[in-house]
Amino acid sequence: MLIRLSQPTLSQREKDLVNEVLDSGLLVQGLKVRDLEESFARYCGTQFAIAVNNGTAALHTALAVAEIGVGDEVITTPFTFVATANSILMQGAKVVFADIEKETFNIDPEEVERKITAKTKAILAVDLYGHPADYLKLRELTKKHNLILIEDAAQAHGAECCGVRTGNLADISCFSLYATKNMMCAEGGIITTNNEKFSELSRRFRHHGQSETRYEYNDLGYNYRLTDIQAAIAIGQLEMLEKYTQRRIHNAKLYSNLLNGVQGIATPVTKSEVKHVFHQYTITCDNLSVKRDNLRDYLKKQQIESGVYYAKPLHLHSHFRKFGYQVGDFLVSENIANRVLSLPVHPLISDRDIETICTHICNFSKGLD
Ligand SMILES: *Cc1c(COP(=O)(O)O)cnc(C)c1O
Repeated sequence: MLIRLSQPTLSQREKDLVNEVLDSGLLVQGLKVRDLEESFARYCGTQFAIAVNNGTAALHTALAVAEIGVGDEVITTPFTFVATANSILMQGAKVVFADIEKETFNIDPEEVERKITAKTKAILAVDLYGHPADYLKLRELTKKHNLILIEDAAQAHGAECCGVRTGNLADISCFSLYATKNMMCAEGGIITTNNEKFSELSRRFRHHGQSETRYEYNDLGYNYRLTDIQAAIAIGQLEMLEKYTQRRIHNAKLYSNLLNGVQGIATPVTKSEVKHVFHQYTITCDNLSVKRDNLRDYLKKQQIESGVYYAKPLHLHSHFRKFGYQVGDFLVSENIANRVLSLPVHPLISDRDIETICTHICNFSKGLD
C-alpha cells in the first residue's frame, strides 16, 4: 500500500461541528469564526487572532497593516514557498533575499543584517518545516534598526522558541490552514498579534476595508473572509493539535534514531531553545554516496511518497530573476535545494511504516537496492 507524504486527520468531531453550522443557517460571519479566533489567540498566548481565507491572504494582510508599500524593502528567505515573497510584491514593496543557516535552513540573522538599508521596513521570517526561525537574534535586529518583525508560521502551529509559541514571537504572525498543514480546514489562514491597531486594521482589510460598526470605507481592502464551515473544521483541528503534534515529534524521533549513522544522510537539527513541530521531517543527502533524486525514485518504486521542499530557491525562478538575482547569490540555499528530501511524518503513519521506510533508505545507502 502507498505510504502518503501527507494525509488529513479528520474525525467525527469536525463533521459534527460542520453540521452545527449547516443546521444554523449562519454560514458566514457567524459564531464559529469568532470561536476559532478566540481559541487560537488563547492557544498562541496572543491578545488577538483574525481569521482569513488562506495563508497567503494572512501574509498580504500582515504586510498591508504594517503599512509596507511602494519604496519599502522587506528582507526574507529565498528558501520558502512562493507565497512568502509574493505577499511583499502584492504591496508593491521590494523583496530583498538573505541566505539561510546551514543547520536549520531558516533565514540567517547575520545575512539579514548585511541586507538592511535605509529603505528596509520589515523582516519576514519563515518557520521552515516547523522549526522556528532565530527570533532572539531577529528581535535584536528589529529593535536596533527600528523594523517590524513578521512571522510566516504557515508550517509551525504550536512550535516554540524559548518557551514562547509561534504566533507570539513577532509583531504580527501568519498561519495557513491549508489541507496539508499541521492544523487545517482545507483552505484558511489566521493572523495573530498583540497590537490592537494591527488587529483592527486586519479585520477591516479582510472585509473591503469596511469598519466593523458601519458601512464606512477608509482604505482599500479585499474579500479575505473565512466561512463558518471552514472555521468549524479548524476548531476541531485545534482541539487535537497538541495530540497530533506529539505524534509528529514521536515519528521524527523514531526516524532520527533509525537513520542515525546511515552513510550519506543527515537527519534534521533542532536547536536547543526550540520546540520543532515537524510539519516536514526533512533529511539532507550528501549527493555523493546517496543521490537525492535517485533515493526519491527508489522510494517511489517501494510505494513511498516523499517531497522536495524546495527544488529551487525563489531567486532562481524567472519571476524573481527579473529583479536581477542570479545563480551564486545565495549559495547555502542553492546547495540545500539539491539535497533535501521530506519523508512522511504525519500523525497517521505507523511506527511500522517508518521502520519500513528507514530499512529501504539503509539498503539504498548501502547499495543493496
Ligand atoms: C502554505 C504556506 C503558505 C501559504 O499558505 P496558503 O494557505 O496555501 O495560502 C505561506 N508560506 C509558507 C511557508 C507555507 O508553507
